[in-house]
Amino acid sequence: ASQTNALRSKLDISVKGEAVPDPVMCFSSCGLPEKLVHNLETAGYSMPTPVQMQVIPASMSYRSLLVSADTGSGKTASFLIPIIALCSRKRLQPYTGKRVPLAIVLAPTRELCLQVEDQAKVLGKGLPFKTALVVGGDPLAQQIYRIDNGVELIVGTPGRLIDLLMKHNVDLSNVSVFVLDEVDCLLERGFRDQAMEIFQALSNPQVMMFSATLHSEVEKMSNSLAKNVVHVSCGNPGR
Ligand code: ADP
Ligand code: MG
Repeated sequence: ASQTNALRSKLDISVKGEAVPDPVMCFSSCGLPEKLVHNLETAGYSMPTPVQMQVIPASMSYRSLLVSADTGSGKTASFLIPIIALCSRKRLQPYTGKRVPLAIVLAPTRELCLQVEDQAKVLGKGLPFKTALVVGGDPLAQQIYRIDNGVELIVGTPGRLIDLLMKHNVDLSNVSVFVLDEVDCLLERGFRDQAMEIFQALSNPQVMMFSATLHSEVEKMSNSLAKNVVHVSCGNPGR
């Protein structure tokens, strides 16, 4: 335990919560599919960033998380890597029936959603992992068509996703991971009700919330969305 604490303090990671899994020092000791480790190498991700070292193992043990870490610290991959691992694990099991979404990532802007989806495509290449982007500006019909053809991950803005869900029946019963990226934005600028509405359509998902800065309001909110939340903060003097 003291060794883990020393490691965390060296990495400038602080955690709060019960039985928080230890940080891992490399991608190959995370229990990830071989192909995903290969994609990480190809993308030039030679080792995890500190936030990834702590968030990936916690996420892979199905913990809900509230994470604050500076812009550019690699938060996106910290949620995408466990999502891709989970999706390929589920899809590689003998699978019958329709291919339905397993994870949803909400982000406040179209631009951010595009970035998340881009990274998801790079890291998920060659794996049974398809994504749908649900943002304004592209035809809704096309987004619906893509989802109906079978995707594992939906990345979208709250307003547009609600719009789509009202017009079209999407089976969300298998969504087991719900990510709120830039959560301070998502919960404080009129997005809150929309994010909550989507959350309520899900059945008890693992919730992961990410931001560069966290307000006490967000902390309160996180406890209403999930139980036994792990708090991670990384190199974050603003806290
Ligand atoms: P943020 O924490 O602000 O969401 P991003 O997830 O957008 O940061 O990551 C910032 C940049 O770092 C991206 O260009 C991403 O591709 C890169 N990156 C993420 N993880 C790693 C890694 N383990 N090794 C090298 N580069 C990485
Ligand atoms: Mg980000």
